[in-house]
Amino acid sequence: MSSQVREWNIRMHPSEAVASADEREAILANPGFGRFFTDHMVSATWTHEHGWHDAELIPYGPIQLDPATNFMHYGQAIFEGLKAYRHADGSVKTFRPVANAERFAASARRLAMAELPIELFLASVEALVRQDQAWVPSGQEKSLYLRPFMLGTEVGLGVRPAAEYRYLLIASPAGAYFPQGVKPVSVWLSDEYVRAAVGGTGEAKCAGNYAASLIAQAEAAQHGCDQVVWLDAAERTWIEEMGGMNLYFVFGSGDSAQIVTPELTGSLLPGITRSSLLQVAEDLGIRATQARISVQDWRQGCLEGQITEVFACGTAAVITPVGEVKSRNSGGWKINGGTTGPITLKLRQALLDIQTGVAEDPHNWLHHIC
Ligand SMILES: *Cc1c(COP(=O)(O)O)cnc(C)c1O
Repeated sequence: MSSQVREWNIRMHPSEAVASADEREAILANPGFGRFFTDHMVSATWTHEHGWHDAELIPYGPIQLDPATNFMHYGQAIFEGLKAYRHADGSVKTFRPVANAERFAASARRLAMAELPIELFLASVEALVRQDQAWVPSGQEKSLYLRPFMLGTEVGLGVRPAAEYRYLLIASPAGAYFPQGVKPVSVWLSDEYVRAAVGGTGEAKCAGNYAASLIAQAEAAQHGCDQVVWLDAAERTWIEEMGGMNLYFVFGSGDSAQIVTPELTGSLLPGITRSSLLQVAEDLGIRATQARISVQDWRQGCLEGQITEVFACGTAAVITPVGEVKSRNSGGWKINGGTTGPITLKLRQALLDIQTGVAEDPHNWLHHIC
């Protein structure tokens, strides 16, 4: 098999006008999220004739596209999100990049796009992070956020899978998600809008899913909530996700605490943080299962005390506690008195400790870059 694995050579065309050390340090002191970008990006192109080619690292900057470029009209656009962490010894590692590469390929299949080979995805991450390693911040919960994405770039308005694709990878330094300490969010149960239906694109990380979610997020904000919680499309009964994150419910407390996450029915995005937490919980002796949970289960469970904590998880925030629920038809209720619970904090710290090299990495999730 190994003879079939092609080595991807990323041609290096580094910038002659990189940010100065002073400029960079000023940004890294307070990067926020997704506001600043590193000096370089990686680009590769796919055509029927040549497959994937022209993989290169180039200076970060605007790209020029014809107004009839296919994805601008019909939305063949997918993306990923992963982080590189600086460890105490100065080394830089990414967390489970192969899982992101595999999900990227699965998203491409669903959107009838060319699949990016796993090895090219990894080679692009290695090339960019190594080149821009000075942009990986050190310090509590800081990271370099990596954004791989792919667009259908055939020019023309015919409705069909594009005959040309462009893969791009950019990187943005990210600060702590909760600079003032972990704070619970309030959520609005969306009974009018749905994020995804079985058979649709909910399992794919495609741009259109996010476009379709914004109106519900705006409705949540109108009701004074930070985030929207999605219910299943068919029955509007079963809990699916929170915004762009997966959910976990904590049952019981102390040594008898268990965690349950909504099972993957075909309309949920299979989060890598979600799957990592199933394992981390087990490692900590916390039973973790996947099951269907209804709005009524959630409400009754909180009122009667079986559900003690609820949290959301994803690459950007790792774990975000949920403190309050509001809805049109099922009333409102608090979780754990609106405060962050101990199981939530324990799991959050355990996963962060693996990612940042503070704890052992028993499952080989870290990928050494430099
Ligand atoms: C990206 C994403 C997640 C979280 O996935 P991670 O791999 O954990 O970052 C969850 N839900 C949706 C809808 C997403 O797009």
